[in-house]
Amino acid sequence: MDRRDFLQNTFALSAVVAAGQLLVSTPAQAEDNKAVAAIKSKHWQYDLQLKHTWTIARGSRDTATVTFFEIESEGVKGIGEAALSTAARYGETRDTVQQALSQVDLSAFSTPFQYGEIFAYIERLAPGQKAARAAIDIAIHDWLGKKLNVPLYRLWGLNKDKTPLSTFTIAIDTPEIMMRKTEEAAEFPVLKIKVGRENDEEIIAAIRKVTDKPLRVDANEGWKSKEAALERIKWLQDQGVELIEQPLPTSQLAETAWLRERVNIPLFADESVSGLGDIGKLHDAFDGINIKLMKCGGLGEALKMIHTARALGMKIMMGCMIESSVGISAAAQLSPLIDYADLDGNLLVSNDPYTGVKVVAGKIVLPDDPGIGVKLR
Ligand code: MG
Repeated sequence: MDRRDFLQNTFALSAVVAAGQLLVSTPAQAEDNKAVAAIKSKHWQYDLQLKHTWTIARGSRDTATVTFFEIESEGVKGIGEAALSTAARYGETRDTVQQALSQVDLSAFSTPFQYGEIFAYIERLAPGQKAARAAIDIAIHDWLGKKLNVPLYRLWGLNKDKTPLSTFTIAIDTPEIMMRKTEEAAEFPVLKIKVGRENDEEIIAAIRKVTDKPLRVDANEGWKSKEAALERIKWLQDQGVELIEQPLPTSQLAETAWLRERVNIPLFADESVSGLGDIGKLHDAFDGINIKLMKCGGLGEALKMIHTARALGMKIMMGCMIESSVGISAAAQLSPLIDYADLDGNLLVSNDPYTGVKVVAGKIVLPDDPGIGVKLR
């Protein structure tokens, strides 16, 4: 490594650590930058086709439209992705993503190494648009890794051998189809089962006929009272369920704290936690949080959330939407820091245009390629 590379690496690393505390440039500086060079960007939509109809407590779908965002600077490209939750749970739609990304003009910045300023600009431009912001954040992080020729996990000082197992998610369906999907997921040592409708017990009983693997259960806010949730969870504890995600609606935080005192398995927040600012109010009610890049706005925010949750003694899961290998490979770069992974969104689709992170016998295997480690298929 020559001196210039060393300085660049050192700067990037310290800036990653200090993310969020960076200064915003003045208009005069921005003008100067514009004169030096520019960052080009483009974005496009893509319809991911699901292998099976995806049904959770709040709705169903057969396709998921994602938006890719690409930057190019100094002859290096970086790719990111925006993906949305089922039934637009977080208030973003394909149109709002499109609108937000269409407004983005990075030509005022001379290099993606000014990412602290760039993220501050994006936050001002599209404050509530977390998925759109994640697309830009991922593209810039991918560029940084590619420019420095290092995978992001290495830039963050993480050990790729410490990646967790990932669950494979069985969405809601008839008990017969859920049994078949369970058999198809033979490679995965832990399964995540979507529940939260009337026939939860029938579903779990059917799955237990074909497997004795540990199960994690996601109610997606589907149980509507604390008493109903308590009854279901007590039964699930006896079925080898090791954790419950989002048992009650977001609005029922006090009820969730009541529930937590009465059950013996950890409760994880998902819909209740969109970003750093939510974590402080959750730690009485939940044992852990499920971080998703598309909810929180990208890798920079996710890293801050991981450290904050750890400081509060909480467990950490990383999850995903229905996404291509771009979003999943980005999230997986942080996975050596977490306890539980549910990073299977790309495995549920039949036409992923990219390859990147792999899951081998349930374990996340990070690629050695730089940045987020993806390639066009
Ligand atoms: Mg969930």
